[in-house]
Amino acid sequence: MAEYKTKVLIIGSGPAGYTAGIYAARAGLKPIIVSGEQIGGQLTMTNDIENFPGFATPISGMELMDKMRNQALNVGVEIIDDKITEVDFSQRPFSCSSENHNLFCGETVIIATGASARWLGLESETKFRGFGVSACATCDGFFYRNRDVAVIGGGNTAVDEAIYLTGFARSVTLIHRRDSLRADKHLQERLFANPKIRVEWDSVVDEVLGTDNPLGVTGLRLKNIKTDETKVLNVEGVFMAIGHHPNTELFKNQLKLDKDGYIETLPNSCQTSVEGVFAAGDVKDPNFRQAVVAAGSGCIAALETEKYLSAQPQK
Ligand code: FAD
Ligand code: NAP
Repeated sequence: MAEYKTKVLIIGSGPAGYTAGIYAARAGLKPIIVSGEQIGGQLTMTNDIENFPGFATPISGMELMDKMRNQALNVGVEIIDDKITEVDFSQRPFSCSSENHNLFCGETVIIATGASARWLGLESETKFRGFGVSACATCDGFFYRNRDVAVIGGGNTAVDEAIYLTGFARSVTLIHRRDSLRADKHLQERLFANPKIRVEWDSVVDEVLGTDNPLGVTGLRLKNIKTDETKVLNVEGVFMAIGHHPNTELFKNQLKLDKDGYIETLPNSCQTSVEGVFAAGDVKDPNFRQAVVAAGSGCIAALETEKYLSAQPQK
């Protein structure tokens, strides 16, 4: 067991965490990042990233996040590969203990633990993840130009993504487990008016079908839950849009969370309900969920941290 003391403790090593680290290190604050289980964050699960500025040709998520990690190390961030299991924000310095029995004490904390997409939990879904199965139309829709795709879900995200995908795909089938959508009325009107979109009501995905060599999706076996009938829908892409959950379990009794569990921050700020604790990236952002936005948010959190620390009486 080791004890680490720092002016800025950053929890999470996605775009928000690394960017916060880079800014804090360049401000001379000697930050420590605790990387968590998923070193590099969600982007490491995806292959071609075409929308992160600075790369003229697609870059893999793993490579992009390795570059961010190296940049953070090069400017002096200390990165510890460990996972925070408990936090105490009731007194300063804030203390966080970890899976490897380390204790991290931070004069400030930046939380950048991200959010995770919900998945159906099918074995075939896991097999084709990144090879036709996606949880982000904004990220991957571009790859389905003139192809047939499906979106699973009946909320605002599913309807938004179905409409968005019609900009690329030949056809979009929305698959929903009930006979009515929970999406907002105005979105539903746009969905039903779009000639490229069809809805499969009362249906669930039984299996994602595809080929092994090359690995790729060719269709879905759907089951109608009212009739128990099954049928195959031919699609090359399937977008899961059944919700996200922010990684905020640890902070439940420490910080104000919104009704969906995202960390609440002051308007136009990363300041949480506890002074000196900041949140950046997807963990506080149910809306945009993009790497460049998370990185921007990490930058804001670090700038606010610096301002906060410089306003504290010197010991
Ligand atoms: P994350 O990237 O989720 O990182 C969270 C970090 O917190 C991880 O390092 C994790 O290990 C750490 N962590 C969690 N709990 C703990 C803990 N208890 N202790 C310590 N650390 C912890 N966006 C784009 O802009 N372009 C794309 O092409 C794109 N493609 C995507 C493809 C997929 C399959 C997915 C899932 C997402 C994609 N996104 C894309 C979205 C993008 O990945 C996210 O918006 C972005 O990663 C959010 O960054 P973040 O730093 O907030 O959190
Ligand atoms: P959501 O509102 O929770 O909807 C999730 C959808 O997925 C529901 O239709 C649900 O079905 C379905 N679902 C959940 N688990 C499933 C499973 N295992 N199998 C099949 N279907 C499943 O999530 P969201 O759409 O991501 O929205 C999250 C929040 O963001 C909401 O507050 C939303 O309003 C907001 N948002 C707003 C906008 C916008 O305003 N434009 C856009 C995106 C998101 P049931 O309906 O049967 O429960």
